[in-house]
Amino acid sequence: MYSPEDIRRWDADHVWHPFTQMQEYLASEPLVVVRGEGNYLIDDKGRRLFDGTSALWCNLLGHRVPEIDAAIAEQLGRFAHTTLLGTTHPGVATLARRLVEIAPEGLNHVFFSDSGATAVEAALKIAFQYRLLTQGKGAAEHAVYLSLDNAYHGDTLGAAAVGGVELFHDIFKPILLPSLKTPSPYCYRCPLGKRPGDCSIDCADELEQALVREGGRVCAVILEPGVQAAAGMLTLPEGFLSRAADACRRHGALLILDEVATGFGRTGTMFACQREGVKPDLLCVAKGLTGGYLPVAATLATDRIYETFLGRYDEYRHFFHGHTYTGNALGCAAALATLGLLSNGEIVGDVGRKARVLHDALSPLAAHPHVGDIRQAGLMCGVELVADRATKVSFAPGQRTGYHICLSLRARGIFLRPLGDVIVLMPPLSSTDAELEHLAASVRAAIVERLGA
Ligand code: PLP
Repeated sequence: MYSPEDIRRWDADHVWHPFTQMQEYLASEPLVVVRGEGNYLIDDKGRRLFDGTSALWCNLLGHRVPEIDAAIAEQLGRFAHTTLLGTTHPGVATLARRLVEIAPEGLNHVFFSDSGATAVEAALKIAFQYRLLTQGKGAAEHAVYLSLDNAYHGDTLGAAAVGGVELFHDIFKPILLPSLKTPSPYCYRCPLGKRPGDCSIDCADELEQALVREGGRVCAVILEPGVQAAAGMLTLPEGFLSRAADACRRHGALLILDEVATGFGRTGTMFACQREGVKPDLLCVAKGLTGGYLPVAATLATDRIYETFLGRYDEYRHFFHGHTYTGNALGCAAALATLGLLSNGEIVGDVGRKARVLHDALSPLAAHPHVGDIRQAGLMCGVELVADRATKVSFAPGQRTGYHICLSLRARGIFLRPLGDVIVLMPPLSSTDAELEHLAASVRAAIVERLGA
């Protein structure tokens, strides 16, 4: 056994953490997780922290869930992994069938991969090849994707190309595919200068106008339904998604919905798009699919798209794309157990009520002089902190306001990670009312401690 000091030293010396300024990380006290118990992380000093990030948005039901543990162990007794290139197995076939059953109608074919970004890459490439197969080389050469400002679809190059979070994506612009952007439904800082009273979801019109301007060049529109999560939990106004979907249909663009963050009950329905009855052509899922246990992702496609790729071998219509661990058997077992736990509807059906508990517990914060906006969709929530409420001016990035507030929450038994100065609350669906109330009270106390009452 290695000592906790060895682990800390090796982490500092060798681990390059994602989305992390390592100089700042090295100057801070690391959180070394040695165990998980329900909704809590236990560190090497025996401290218990409520994980308000759900392991960065993927852990739906907590740790050591008996049904998921048992399903993985049982599969391990048979085999851990085999390739999906040329073979299949009961887990992957059953999972594909189960996903088709719970997804919006018409998405009958499932392409598996390993992460949110790879699910998006597959969708983008399928959309491009579909254009090629249906309209020919000339049309495909001019094809473009359309997405929203403030979008986040992952960090691989294709997914980043349709991303629109300046801080993450601008650095890489010179090496990204060009893609079209239309304004984000960021109502608190409306890019079109609208206010709630005088807005008729003009950003949906902007999206349609872009499709008109491009005259059929857009092969796919990709959207995060319900919430632009990584941009700071920007909740989409009701009606935006259905108008965008209608516009896609009218102008011949495929609609890709990225439910990587919102899927599997997060917003109170199995998928966020089901709130507006929207049926996409391609649907990307990942994160919560395995209850946060193992990296499995999927891109679901309609019959129309799937059948376009059929043909004789030497027509080369097939989808030339895949990953070694596609359809991993342990991951499929974890996913089937997770979907089994969600299947009677009780957990997802209770998200709306739990969301109200969280909302009510956070409501005293709304009056705080440095809280600009509180946004929430189900158990996804963002508290945007500002230097000045009247002008909505942000704190200087160097002040690291959100970061310090989240760091101080550890002393209160809470683990959170902010997005800039948006404090993100994304607790597991298995959180109890008392845990949600404690989470909200702790966030409030930490904000008051740092920024005053
Ligand atoms: N799409 C959305 C909407 C996301 O929120 C994320 C991650 O936060 C991704 C894609 C990328 O997922 P992954 O980190 O698994 O690649």
